[in-house]
Amino acid sequence: MAAQSLLYANLNPLLISGSTGNQIKAREQFLGSFPLKAKTTRPRLSNGCRARAAANAVALPVEIPCQWYNVIADLSVKPPPPLHPKTFEPVKPEDLSPLFPDELIKQEASTDRFIDIPDEVLDIYRLWRPTPLIRAKRLEKILDTPARIYYKYEGVSPAGSHKPNTAVPQVYYNAQEGIKNVVTETGAGQWGSSLAFACSLFGLNCEVWQVRASYDQKPYRRLMMQTWGAKVHPSPSDITEVGRKILQMDPSSPGSLGIAISEAAEVAAANADTKYCLGSVLNHVLLHQTVIGEECIKQMEAVGETPDIIIGCTGGGSNFGGLSFPFIREKLNGKINPVIRAVEPTACPSLTKGVYAYDFGDTAGMTPLMKMHTLGHDFIPDPIHAGGLRYHGMAPLLSHVYELGLMEAISIPQTECFQGAIQFARTEGIIPAPEPTHAIAATIREALRCKETGEAKVILTAMCGHGHFDLASYENYLQGKMVDLSFEEKKIQESLDKIPRVIA
Ligand SMILES: *Cc1c(COP(=O)(O)O)cnc(C)c1O
Repeated sequence: MAAQSLLYANLNPLLISGSTGNQIKAREQFLGSFPLKAKTTRPRLSNGCRARAAANAVALPVEIPCQWYNVIADLSVKPPPPLHPKTFEPVKPEDLSPLFPDELIKQEASTDRFIDIPDEVLDIYRLWRPTPLIRAKRLEKILDTPARIYYKYEGVSPAGSHKPNTAVPQVYYNAQEGIKNVVTETGAGQWGSSLAFACSLFGLNCEVWQVRASYDQKPYRRLMMQTWGAKVHPSPSDITEVGRKILQMDPSSPGSLGIAISEAAEVAAANADTKYCLGSVLNHVLLHQTVIGEECIKQMEAVGETPDIIIGCTGGGSNFGGLSFPFIREKLNGKINPVIRAVEPTACPSLTKGVYAYDFGDTAGMTPLMKMHTLGHDFIPDPIHAGGLRYHGMAPLLSHVYELGLMEAISIPQTECFQGAIQFARTEGIIPAPEPTHAIAATIREALRCKETGEAKVILTAMCGHGHFDLASYENYLQGKMVDLSFEEKKIQESLDKIPRVIA
């Protein structure tokens, strides 16, 4: 940190948090004592443009953290364990070993506060990390708000989202344990492409079951996976028993995430050299994503800001948990007191409309039972919902944090989300993925509230990916074809009725 502040002092003494006038003067005198050729009001590094840009909008690069943070260590009440789907007894490590390598099973159950990031993983993180923390000055201006808006941008990864933060360590641990093949499912393709990218770096074979409808309609994500060397099957496929059964009943089945999970899991369970990878929901996935929040804490410190509110979108909960958990640690330590707000689509509102109960992770009911906010394991959001954030449940760990009252949740309809995304794209330049449009819409709501009250709040938001392969949903919006769904209480109630009854 000392070297960091020194660098900062060279850039702009006024940006150092907590500097008194005298300290700043002393520093200017110190800097002035060097035989500088041209005296400038803002001392520059040799690359003056870069120094100016940093002082303006983008927080300086910081070191990548060398440990992930496990929020479980700091929770007064520990989260309830996953249960075996047949016995309803807590799952044992050996129950999970057909699907996951030992190290990830250990991380799943770990109560250690910090877990070291392996050097090989750090080395790959360096391809795109640290990711930028950017002040959305132009968005602030157009909203005419006194709020200061910062966004942590994960779209700079090779796959274009936060998902490689966990794909890389997952593949690394599998490679360490001699696994040759990994399998997974993918809906829109963000997770499948992230896993394909990670496998290409470690030389593992990657097979992805992509939901049929998306396989046909979204060829570019499939081509990314194939470019990175993955084998992609439309799901349902005739390779698995589950897939064949479904095709027999309905040869033109469009597939679903639940079916694709069952196919990938079936292949992993049947082959000793093959494991299964999941892109969200599980404890170890949220753990890996805390690299986002750890970096962001240092970046906020470097610009002398403390967030008053942290906003992120939640599908399975991994990008939101990744950004917010390290800040929750600081909050529990009494250092800061931000409001922490999850945003979900009104079309799939697991936190705001679901129940907190033990439920299956997949549609077929093959996975362990997890206590989470759920809409019921056979809930499928309406197909006119523009994409992303379609999972019926919420990460058990995030659900637990929500139950403990450490965060809040709201839902926002999709047209408001895309309206916000267009405003964001036209001021900040970045075209957001459909998922973080929810975080942007909530950020805009908060910034406009600040305009009413005159509060100069610091809003921090998670911009977890770009939308370059989701332009079809922008086309829908721009052509006025996007509509909001009327909320279907009845549909949710029907699906809630099918949640298994477990007394816990
Ligand atoms: C997968 C994905 C999500 C949803 O998953 P979380 O686990 O809730 O983060 C959100 N945004 C992007 C860009 C994604 O790829």
